Amino acid sequence: MRWRAVVLTTGLVLGLAAGPAQASGADETGIIDSTRHGGRTVALTFDDGPNPEDTPRLLRVLRKHHVKATFCLWGDFVEQHPGIVRSIVAHGHVLCNHTMHHEDLGTWTPERIEADLRQTSAAIRRAVPWAPPIRYFRAPYGSWGQSPAVAAKLGMRSLGWRLTISDWEPPGTDELVRRLREGVTPGAVVLLHDGPDDRAQTVEAVDRIIPELRAGGWRFDLPARR
Ligand SMILES: [Zn+2]
Repeated sequence: MRWRAVVLTTGLVLGLAAGPAQASGADETGIIDSTRHGGRTVALTFDDGPNPEDTPRLLRVLRKHHVKATFCLWGDFVEQHPGIVRSIVAHGHVLCNHTMHHEDLGTWTPERIEADLRQTSAAIRRAVPWAPPIRYFRAPYGSWGQSPAVAAKLGMRSLGWRLTISDWEPPGTDELVRRLREGVTPGAVVLLHDGPDDRAQTVEAVDRIIPELRAGGWRFDLPARR
């Protein structure tokens, strides 16, 4: 009975991770959702780019504030905008594999997942052959399925999050800033979006929240490597 209860609990955890609100960072799955240094730090991560409008704007904002972030790249857009991928790397940011076509991996076999992740990493590698190895993977929709084990086999850590602010339905920059201000917790990986659609509000919110959080004693970090 005890074993059955554990299985049910794990199923619940994975079910929560698949929802849009918040991923579980359950250690048993190996999914990282914390920063490298902990304490009063946060790690900004951006999904679903590169986006020809907003990713370059975001890069300028991050450079202005001297913040390094992680970009979870959508393979189709990598192939369409390789120059932006080169810019991301040239600015010193960290790359993350976010699959080729942003499909739900929840029911996929390990073989199918591996083929997709390899294809995505190869597309990124073609855009930036000189980039460091891709260390992170994030499943679209937080629907991990069997992907963490596959990613680990390919040398990538699975990257979850502790805070996301539903910026895929832009509610206004003020509201995004409020959600960030009220949602950050020590050591949190924060999920934002620079693609695939208009993310001007996200870029503006990042521009405003960075100095505000810094004034409150927060520092910007990268995701943990464990
Ligand atoms: Zn995504």
